[in-house]
Amino acid sequence: MRAEELKANLKSVEERVSAACARAGRDRSEVTLIAVSKTKPIEDLQVIYDQGIREFGENKVQELTGKIPEMAEDINWHLIGHLQRNKVKYIVDKVKLIHSVDSYRLAEEINIQAKKHGIIVPILIEVNAANEATKFGVRLEEAKQLCEEIAHLENVHIMGLMTIAPNVVVPEENRAIFHKIKDLSVDIASENIDNIDMRIISMGMTNDFEVAIEEGATHVRVGTAIFGERNYNI
Ligand SMILES: *Cc1c(COP(=O)(O)O)cnc(C)c1O
Repeated sequence: MRAEELKANLKSVEERVSAACARAGRDRSEVTLIAVSKTKPIEDLQVIYDQGIREFGENKVQELTGKIPEMAEDINWHLIGHLQRNKVKYIVDKVKLIHSVDSYRLAEEINIQAKKHGIIVPILIEVNAANEATKFGVRLEEAKQLCEEIAHLENVHIMGLMTIAPNVVVPEENRAIFHKIKDLSVDIASENIDNIDMRIISMGMTNDFEVAIEEGATHVRVGTAIFGERNYNI
């Protein structure tokens, strides 16, 4: 049964999150598990929702806006994928947090659309910590300056940093990257810049979320370990 499989997957992920928190001497409440439901049908999301999960992550605007009306209103939706400026208007008032801001121009557009709705939109700065050519995100060395620039925008609020670590075979290989992001977060927080908060660190996926938690992640984005492998061809 699909539902039983999903429930067992979620239970196992929950146990691993708790164990990682315990190893790191952190309280379980310090880490938010985001169920990354991209490519998965509503029925799957509903099973996970029924288990009490309220944080869901999607990486495409169209898929996200299609799923929102199909699901309960108390879900917190996280946009975790690359966001094009012309699509900001479709999601700006519908998401709890935009994880993937990596340019001033994008933040500026979010600010414009947020102003239209009279809201302040929480965002994270996406950092390409390993400087991978295939990935979006600002370079580690550029993150602080981008934060300082975006801080002037009145209708966006920087809540922290996000990174997508390299796809490695052994999760331990990403420990140094996660550590760098945590250090950067502490460094930016110490500047006490107005309108910047560094309370969120979104890092860790199926392959490496335990190491990420040990290194200070506050939000882990887990897809495959909950929903199973994705099939992009359907
Ligand atoms: C797909 C995706 C995830 C989840 O990846 P898994 O390896 O399936 O857990 C996390 N973060 C982002 C940005 C993603 O696009």
